[in-house]
Amino acid sequence: MTAVIPLLPAAADGCASAPVLKERGQREVFCGLTGIVWLHRKIQDAFFLVVGSRTCAHLIQSAAGVMIFAEPRFATAILDERDLAGLADANDELDRVVNRLLERRPDIKTLFLVGSCPSEVIKLDLARAAQRLSAQFLPRVRVLNYSGSGIETTFTQGEDACLACLVPVLPVSDAPVLLVVGALPDVVEDQFARLLAQIGIQQVSFLPARHSHQMPAIGANTQFLLAQPFLANTARALEGRGATRIAAPFPIGVEGTTAWLHAAAAAFGIAPDTVDRVTASARNRAVQALQRQRETLAGKRIFFFPDSQLELPIARFLTRELGMQLTEVGTPFLHREHMAQELAWLPAGTRLSEGQHVENQLDRCRAERADITVCGLGLANPLEAEGLTTKWAIELVFTPIHGYEQAADLAELFARPLRRAALLQHDRASPQAA
Ligand code: SF4
Repeated sequence: MTAVIPLLPAAADGCASAPVLKERGQREVFCGLTGIVWLHRKIQDAFFLVVGSRTCAHLIQSAAGVMIFAEPRFATAILDERDLAGLADANDELDRVVNRLLERRPDIKTLFLVGSCPSEVIKLDLARAAQRLSAQFLPRVRVLNYSGSGIETTFTQGEDACLACLVPVLPVSDAPVLLVVGALPDVVEDQFARLLAQIGIQQVSFLPARHSHQMPAIGANTQFLLAQPFLANTARALEGRGATRIAAPFPIGVEGTTAWLHAAAAAFGIAPDTVDRVTASARNRAVQALQRQRETLAGKRIFFFPDSQLELPIARFLTRELGMQLTEVGTPFLHREHMAQELAWLPAGTRLSEGQHVENQLDRCRAERADITVCGLGLANPLEAEGLTTKWAIELVFTPIHGYEQAADLAELFARPLRRAALLQHDRASPQAA
């Protein structure tokens, strides 16, 4: 029989009531359009039509890399000042583009019109356009809209805006159901579905679903569990439909995943012993897999710029399960209610910052000279040139990191750059050996 590795003891109340440095100034973070890169893979019959400028088209293409699809599932309708000589013309043009797209592509079942920040686009009423086009194309295609504008959203908020716009059109059901909210890679979703079923929760659905016709039905007996920490608007919209949020930390690392499953089980009246029994072998495997990265990471200092809103759960995992020391943990937004458990698990005295004033934060980062700095692509190269080791925040969103099986992969994202930096340092110190 496998020995059960006990959970870590809880900190008293960690950073639950710690002060947070609030900053407002220039930000260095991708806009919400970036979310299309993972959302179009998740919802397999959706199409994302960005209504934007050439800049938006370039961002999407470069963030997505070279797309090797016979039929792509996102595009940009480029608007410029000339198109808005008359708004009526711009609406006609949008209708023409959508008609042509949907005629050519019978596989599309949900079309998202995604707003952006150029002034030409802001003048266009995309909500009304979506209603008009939905009326034309339903029941074959539903047309929805949300904003991925850099003025309103950082990159993970694009997912929040997308899921929030789906909530009002989800079917109604009074059946008791557990709804897991947040786009997860299919492999992770399958692992969670298996574990939840083994624990004894049979009625589980996921938002977003992989296909438009599978989108979950919700109602007063829906209890939802956030899988991602950046879904404040989606959570509010679900609560507006009568669903109840299950308070839990996020399923990052062994400890977070176990507590997340415990919270689900408790909400459905299932004893904690059942969760411990079902998860014992996966937990033990994950803890053992983390040993290798722990050798590299323990005692190393880490600094987080605010990018993905995943910073708090990841910082908690790195310090509690891998022994890293937190210098500053920045987050674009801090939702105290959703983050209550995460805050309590962070070591007392951790410097927390919300929002960004990039110059001030760069000063603090340079003063700290942590062993590894988590930041956006735009800051990584200059900081590397200054001799700092960095990790791109966007990788944390593009890589499967949730759950037991992925805990070691997540730790490896931080261990690899540190090992590489150590090798380079070694080569510089002894050039003959290189
Ligand atoms: S939405 Fe705004 S920030 Fe995003 S790519 Fe377009 S212009 Fe740039």
